[in-house]
Amino acid sequence: MSAFTDELERRLDEIRAQGLLRELRRVESAQSTRIDVDGRTLLNFSSNDYLGLANHPALREAAIKAIEKFGAGSGSARLVCGSLAPHHELEETLAEFKQTESALSFSSGYATAVGTITALMGKEDVVVLDKLVHASIVDGARLSGAKLRIFSHNDPGELEDILKWADGRAPVPEGRRPRTLIVTESVFSMDGDRAPLKEIVSLKEKYGAWLMLDEAHATGYFGEGRRGLADELGVSGQIEIQMGTLGKALGSAGGYICGARALINILINRARSFIFSTAPVPAAAAAARAGVELVQSAEGKSRAEKLWATAGELKQKLGVNGWKFPAAGSAIIPLIIGEEGAAMGAAAELREAGIFVPAVRYPTVARGEARLRVTVTAGHEPADVAELVNKVTTGVRRN
Ligand SMILES: *Cc1c(COP(=O)(O)O)cnc(C)c1O
Repeated sequence: MSAFTDELERRLDEIRAQGLLRELRRVESAQSTRIDVDGRTLLNFSSNDYLGLANHPALREAAIKAIEKFGAGSGSARLVCGSLAPHHELEETLAEFKQTESALSFSSGYATAVGTITALMGKEDVVVLDKLVHASIVDGARLSGAKLRIFSHNDPGELEDILKWADGRAPVPEGRRPRTLIVTESVFSMDGDRAPLKEIVSLKEKYGAWLMLDEAHATGYFGEGRRGLADELGVSGQIEIQMGTLGKALGSAGGYICGARALINILINRARSFIFSTAPVPAAAAAARAGVELVQSAEGKSRAEKLWATAGELKQKLGVNGWKFPAAGSAIIPLIIGEEGAAMGAAAELREAGIFVPAVRYPTVARGEARLRVTVTAGHEPADVAELVNKVTTGVRRN
């Protein structure tokens, strides 16, 4: 045993020496703009709970009711005896919300990406990814065995070069046409910028590729219907595979795919992360459904409006102090620092000053591009923004 742990300690020392060691921080309170960490209450600018729904009374109540009727556990995988009414109700609500024929929920966004890409693509196919897509998409693409091609972040020109090449491949021996799947995010999780979605949609139509769009960071507050960026741009109907998470703006946990009924039926039959995993607990499904309903309500609209106003105000105030952001952004506001140690130091200083903002380092972002990842939520007040701006401008050195 000791030889084993000695080896692992050596590996941990290597991670530590590079300034890349990660540790858990125990939070003693519910998700909110204030969280209790290490015995102190900190102003929280780190959560993906964009609309402040994670501890909303409507979601709590839905979860409690589901527990009272269906219990704490779901008992088995969906395809055995775990396909409970709350899962079906959630999926009906998601399909209606996203205006698709059908929807399927998974236990996490990670399981959604991995299960869906591997269900659709095989070794004769090509998966084309934006350089900055989430790890779950990279892992799904690798696991599928398909040829992997990466285009520079948000670069439709490079994407077109890859699609041209992919289009020219010979048919596979069995006669099935080799398929090409483009996967991108609508809003990028660590940069907060948006994909050039209209261009990507025209390219995928031009070359007959399929498109999977991960709206993890846009669902709930983009567009008139708060369905996401595809809806805001009016291109949802042209996207074969619409993905999202239930654990961010929607306030619960899990992931989903919305699309044609045939797509959902293929996933039920082929997505291994769906088939070989216990169904999400009823409370999670019921809370997620309440989250989707809340997003569509007048309260959802006003929460989204407040979120946009807060994000705009923060960017404007930080911009005055020389920080730069993409013109069209989101609730994610990265403060790029560069060196890993410097970003860690800046996060520690902000924590000392009573503000919780995480430093994001390699491998989540590229080496030398470490940053403070600020996220705003509908719960933040102008005084919170002022406090963050004050502490950042006095304490954090710009790159
Ligand atoms: C968070 C995230 C996921 C994973 O979702 P989980 O529900 O947290 O597993 C997938 N894609 C993107 C872009 C994400 O930000």
